[in-house]
Amino acid sequence: GKLQGKGRQVTYVDAMDQRSAEQSRLAADLRIALDTEQLYLHYQPIVTMPGGELFGVEALVRWTHPARGPIGPAVFIPAAERTGLIVPLGAWILEEACRQAVRWIEELGDAAPHTVTVNVSARQLREAGFAGEVAAVLERTGLPPEVLTVEVTETAVFDGGTALTELRAIAALGVKIALDDFGTGHSSLGLLRTCPADVLKVDKSFVDDVTEGGQQAVVVAALIGICEGMGLRAVAEGVETAEQAAELQRLGYRYAQGFHYGRPMPAEAIAAYRPAPARS
Ligand code: C2E
Ligand code: CA
Ligand code: CA
Ligand code: CA
Repeated sequence: GKLQGKGRQVTYVDAMDQRSAEQSRLAADLRIALDTEQLYLHYQPIVTMPGGELFGVEALVRWTHPARGPIGPAVFIPAAERTGLIVPLGAWILEEACRQAVRWIEELGDAAPHTVTVNVSARQLREAGFAGEVAAVLERTGLPPEVLTVEVTETAVFDGGTALTELRAIAALGVKIALDDFGTGHSSLGLLRTCPADVLKVDKSFVDDVTEGGQQAVVVAALIGICEGMGLRAVAEGVETAEQAAELQRLGYRYAQGFHYGRPMPAEAIAAYRPAPARS
């Protein structure tokens, strides 16, 4: 009835207030975290198939809150984007990942990850001069540009007028560009015409369907053809099972990332990463 409806609306508004209050609290704590070493990076292997050898890594930020314990980036990155804190946070992530990439090259030589991928959010890309910041970080750390991959989502590229300009300037440095969560946006294919891209990350939602007989399985098959035709590297994301890996290989995929191969892990574990022995 009417009363119930009204009650629901009140609850909804309260929930909204609570959510934004929670977001402000998180952002305030995150500001402190940035200065006090509560933040660190994990790295997830990107492997070649069929062998599962380490090809590269994706840097993923982690936060252990002093009172609340670990908080996932899916929770605090949106808060950081809303408050603009993503700009200093993202700058720290970029520099930390580049420093680690240099350490791996020094320690491991040819066995170092060939590429270190860093997520860059829409808000960072919109900052005029972001490409200049990337160039400065490469210079400070001494990382060869071709080892760095900047990973952006479609929404980030379409977000503002300058995003594409910055992205082209980053590509001109010799840095690789990856399109994240590919296929989940509104005009993914249109993006391939305007945006400089070297890598397509095929979203987990499509990968899930390859062995589940879902309708999206055809998308996975079509995307590998597009990548081959355009000279892009296709990376299948969120590969969780041997069955998915086998099916992706059958379709022609050569690069994968997912729990089947390795979870995000500390830098030292990447140095020790070895493919799981093949089951017979
Ligand atoms: P993403 O960029 O799409 O990153 C992949 C996410 O999927 C990661 O979650 C990773 O742990 C998870 N994942 C990888 N393989 C599998 C799998 O086989 N199964 C399942 N179920 N999940 C898998 P995570 O680390 O929690 O990050 C979530 C999102 O937060 C990221 O999605 C990205 O959008 C954002 N994020 C994380 N780190 C950063 C960062 O340093 N900067 C920015 N701007 N965003 C970040
Ligand atoms: Ca990503
Ligand atoms: Ca992704
Ligand atoms: Ca995602």
